[in-house]
Amino acid sequence: MGFSRRQFLGGGLALGGALATGAPASILRGLGIAKEVNAAPVNDQEKISYSCCNPECNNCSLQVHVRNGKLVRISPNPNYYTRPCLRGRSRLQWNYHPDRLKYPFKRVGERGEGKWERISWEEALDTIATKLGQIRDESGPESVWFTAGAVMSVLPNSMQRRFANAFGKGVMTGGIGSLCCAAQGEASTATQGYRTAGIEEKAYSKLLIAWGHNPAVTYIPHSRIMADALDKGCRLITIDPRFSETASKADKWISIKPGTDTAMAMAMIRIIIEENLYDEKFALGRSNLPFLVNEATGKLLRQDDVVAGGDHEAFVVWDQSTNGPALPNEAVAPVLEGTFKIGDLTVRTVFARLRERVAKFTPEYASEITGVPAEDISEVAYTYATVKPAMIDSGMSGAQRTSSGAYFVQSLLNLAGLTGNIGLLGGGVNDTGGFSHGTNVAINAPFKADNKGVIPATKVGEYLSEGKPYPIRAIYWQGKGMGQLPNTNKVVEGFKKMDFIVVQEHFFGDAASLADIVLPVATLFERYDVMCNSRSFYYHLMDKAIEPFMEAQSDGWIYTELAKRLGFGEYFDKTEEEWIDVVLEQTGLTVESLRKSGPVYQWSDPKLNKYGVKWDKKPFTFFVDTPFKTASGRFEFHASRWEDKGFEPLVNYFPPEESKETAPELYEKYPLSLVANKIRTKVHSTYAIMPWLSEIYPKGWVTMSTVDAEARGIKDGDMVEVFNDRGSVKVTAHVGNGIRPGVVSMPNGWWMQQGYCSSVLSNDYTHPQAYGHALNSTLVQVKGV
Ligand code: SF4
Repeated sequence: MGFSRRQFLGGGLALGGALATGAPASILRGLGIAKEVNAAPVNDQEKISYSCCNPECNNCSLQVHVRNGKLVRISPNPNYYTRPCLRGRSRLQWNYHPDRLKYPFKRVGERGEGKWERISWEEALDTIATKLGQIRDESGPESVWFTAGAVMSVLPNSMQRRFANAFGKGVMTGGIGSLCCAAQGEASTATQGYRTAGIEEKAYSKLLIAWGHNPAVTYIPHSRIMADALDKGCRLITIDPRFSETASKADKWISIKPGTDTAMAMAMIRIIIEENLYDEKFALGRSNLPFLVNEATGKLLRQDDVVAGGDHEAFVVWDQSTNGPALPNEAVAPVLEGTFKIGDLTVRTVFARLRERVAKFTPEYASEITGVPAEDISEVAYTYATVKPAMIDSGMSGAQRTSSGAYFVQSLLNLAGLTGNIGLLGGGVNDTGGFSHGTNVAINAPFKADNKGVIPATKVGEYLSEGKPYPIRAIYWQGKGMGQLPNTNKVVEGFKKMDFIVVQEHFFGDAASLADIVLPVATLFERYDVMCNSRSFYYHLMDKAIEPFMEAQSDGWIYTELAKRLGFGEYFDKTEEEWIDVVLEQTGLTVESLRKSGPVYQWSDPKLNKYGVKWDKKPFTFFVDTPFKTASGRFEFHASRWEDKGFEPLVNYFPPEESKETAPELYEKYPLSLVANKIRTKVHSTYAIMPWLSEIYPKGWVTMSTVDAEARGIKDGDMVEVFNDRGSVKVTAHVGNGIRPGVVSMPNGWWMQQGYCSSVLSNDYTHPQAYGHALNSTLVQVKGV
């Protein structure tokens, strides 16, 4: 690629200038756009089409400039509410990266030895179809494990799901839970019915609490919205063991021990309850705090518990006007607190049980657990309870990537619910998305799905290497960063036991280097795709702008060719554009309409607006007009979903799975808590080898406190080894006071082959409540080398 460092830095300065001069009102730009494409080509030869950046990030709308069949520039869509960051712009370099896979390859040496032979597509596809079919016929469809990376895109992942479904005649393999936001999603679903994103709403907040979240680098465009709010007088508190980039802009930085955040939140809940700072109207009218719980079972009381032939789906409150039980919507004077007798049953309100649950979490008690001074806990609680609207900006917080992450997220939602910050513009808990737009993303699996082949997303290494719950013999791996999987050395061990591995990718990454067949795939500019299910409320067409590089092919084409060879080609009878029309069919949008309009905001058209939102051109606020999609239709402090599944339904604190309290012997050996932080040059492991970005951060590092460094004779800039029983990484030490003693942090996102992959150290613990990632419940030791 013909871009010098000087040219790139010039581009970076131009971007910086644009960001610096943006008007605060710019956050509303683009709300409701459904306009003709208005970006003028630079010259007659230049063609511009729309695309969209990472599904796992902000879904920034991109304008893709093509001249003479070549991608020449990526620019912001002037009608969109955010502008692409340095990562999105580096996709230009990604496309023409010198290491891009040009042809299909087959392994000719030992697995992982790095000996490859170029083969034709014909040979590659025939080999894959024969091997996969043979293994399926010998050992069942669950012995072939299909998996896809989250960030590659929407259509390829849906096509893989369809392929796996048809291949297994319904038996679906893949992962359960996730490596990022499973706890966030599970707790939001249990409490509210679905996840919410308050990205644009931040501009209306008077208080933001960035809790384990660092949007200044993870969601760069959001930090502009945050900056706009701060300019208007909003206060910012960050709660993070690291003095992060976001903390550097905060009014207050709370340095907390990793994995103890729920204890601080429970202390705040206690203050809000004991000081009567809660919103009684919301508590009584919209939450299940007045619902009665059977003291003997700990379960919510149902109408059929107290009335013969009553409705099991109906919950019960205590009505003061009759001094007896009543249905919530029929009670004249429901009470929030009390213990009552109904026949032989002793019942108590959820509110009373919550008060009891948090009773021991005095600021002093929480201080002992969290390391946060008691007066700081009190100050944050009082500030949060008295400044409205207040948003807890948790994103996909590092604090939920712990062994009991779902209770952490529940504790944040409890805080928002208690203070009446739910259904309030500028309030709520911003978890940065995961919102479904009512599209047909799974593309109608041809067979009824049977998920017996799924394995926990964080347990890949253990399950592959130990043959759990049944022997997996083959892997079909699509665009996924192996270096994101915890306990990565165990994953490599599992790979080495496989009979056959296919990887379709852009580069010879960590998984590809262990494969039997490697297939070169088209980038998002070289095929068609759609974005409609993730981090924004927009529908985007990702139009094909250029022909695929060398012999690369689209994922859709590959699955179609393999399906033909495996005898189920009839389920792959459409072009990519036709599949996108199927995805969009419930919306009334089409490839053609999106091509003309650019991104479409979903509240702007009644057909797209499945919640019937009364849209007034302000950012949409959940739960003003929209219902809670829980069993009770209310905001559930006592999560009936968890009660049904056998999990503790009320917020609770559990110490991290690896900690002094829970694993004292391990702590003896490895006394430092490791947190894996994100950096601005990566989204997970995406962009890890983009030269422009690698100039900014060429090597990995570990950040440690002066106290911990001095105790180990380590100076700033020294090479050190960070290690535990799972692995070891050699990096440079960054020593300072921007991290609390007892904690070290390593940026996450390097590939294993780059040598700085922090995931080799990460805990692969998961809990069936959410099957989330516990990478921030990890103990390590550091020594000089
Ligand atoms: S990486 Fe994220 S913030 Fe940057 S351009 Fe892509 S979607 Fe936007």
